[in-house]
Amino acid sequence: MERTNVWKGYTKKQLKELEELNLGYRKFLDAGKTERECVKESIRLAEEAGYKSLHKVIAKGKKLKEGDKVYAVCMKKTLVLFQIGKKPLEEGMAILGAHIDSPRLDIKQNPLYEDTELAYLDTHYYGGIKKYQWVTIPLAVHGVVVKKDGKTVEVNIGEDKHDPVFCITDLLVHLSGEKMEKKAAKVIEGEELDLLVGSIPLKEEEKEGVKKNILRLLKEKYEMEEEDFISAELEVVPAGQARESGLDASMILAYGQDDRVCAYTSLMAMLEVNDTQRTTCCLLVDKEEVGSVGATGMKSLFFENMVAELLEACGQYSDIALRRCLAASRMLSSDVSAAYDPTFAASYEKKNAAYFGRGMVFNKFTGSRGKSGSNDANAEYMAAIRQMLDKHKVAYQTAELGKVDVGGGGTIAYIMALYGMEVIDSGVAVLNMHAPWELTSKADVYETKKGYVAFLLEA
Ligand code: MN
Ligand code: MN
Repeated sequence: MERTNVWKGYTKKQLKELEELNLGYRKFLDAGKTERECVKESIRLAEEAGYKSLHKVIAKGKKLKEGDKVYAVCMKKTLVLFQIGKKPLEEGMAILGAHIDSPRLDIKQNPLYEDTELAYLDTHYYGGIKKYQWVTIPLAVHGVVVKKDGKTVEVNIGEDKHDPVFCITDLLVHLSGEKMEKKAAKVIEGEELDLLVGSIPLKEEEKEGVKKNILRLLKEKYEMEEEDFISAELEVVPAGQARESGLDASMILAYGQDDRVCAYTSLMAMLEVNDTQRTTCCLLVDKEEVGSVGATGMKSLFFENMVAELLEACGQYSDIALRRCLAASRMLSSDVSAAYDPTFAASYEKKNAAYFGRGMVFNKFTGSRGKSGSNDANAEYMAAIRQMLDKHKVAYQTAELGKVDVGGGGTIAYIMALYGMEVIDSGVAVLNMHAPWELTSKADVYETKKGYVAFLLEA
């Protein structure tokens, strides 16, 4: 059983649609390099498509009816959208859920120091990274500084072509004899990931003049004192735009495609569909890369609370209606999968790997060491999904995350499955996953969006 390469079968019209979608995708990636930026950009796109704030609807005492489109936000980092369907909510929703946090380096709360007339910001990495990949590349700083009076200053340095960028240094190869003998996990250690931010000392200062000069610049540009780092969320990410990749420009090379590729395709599918049987829902959540913890992670009650609010606004709320709605829902946990890499063939099992250009990927289960920690989707559910995909001519493939016992991973699927709903992992195959620059196939982005549309219409 082998899947064919979808590129061969595309018509001119399909290729045009594919390019348009991928152009929009690249713009989305550039506009959203942090979870906060992603929420902002997603709300902008949703409002353009007629979505309104659920909380505003509630505050005005309005009732929701079939066809109404609403969204709700949790702490500016997690977003949920709903479009009311024809069936009562008790009969369940069709849910697409992706995450919008990506591996990165966070700036510590007391980060600034000077050593040998060089100023640094100390970082603590977020999510699973190969630390050695983050040295010597151009880096940008995105985030917010919240002042004591509650005023928020937005920071974005290193993306405009006139902006300076930042760098984490590495030892020159000439002096690395001993270092090169170390394990890859140890060759660059967490505390060595310090961002070099300056080298000019203030003229009149004898001690720590470089640090003082950086503080002067922070004050000038962001009205920021050193203490304001305490209430800042500053994320160090690769600098630069999402690019087309390959001589045939068939791929996208960009930061943060895990999982913004599924976030974007889910959101686009959500904004495209109308007149659905079930109420549709698109969830874009934070904190997946660190275990879905915290108020903005999938394990929080935010989603459940918003479904309760939705039921109430539809005049359908009761505790049993809420439970029935969640249990009867169907979900695609939209997350990326590892693409087969011929250079590292030994880590994959070829029959059950995801390939570039073969469409949307389904992972019946994830986990590690004998599927531990995974959500295992039901055969009946997978069968229903096959039916939907074939009806809408979506190219898809099934895969596991690498060879048995080579490693593993998880998504938000198992958390949603706790409600008793049907959930399966599905999304786009990625090369270099979790690296500063990740690769996807434009064809897979296109097929995955089509797949999400099919699901919202047919689920
Ligand atoms: Mn992911
Ligand atoms: Mn990930």
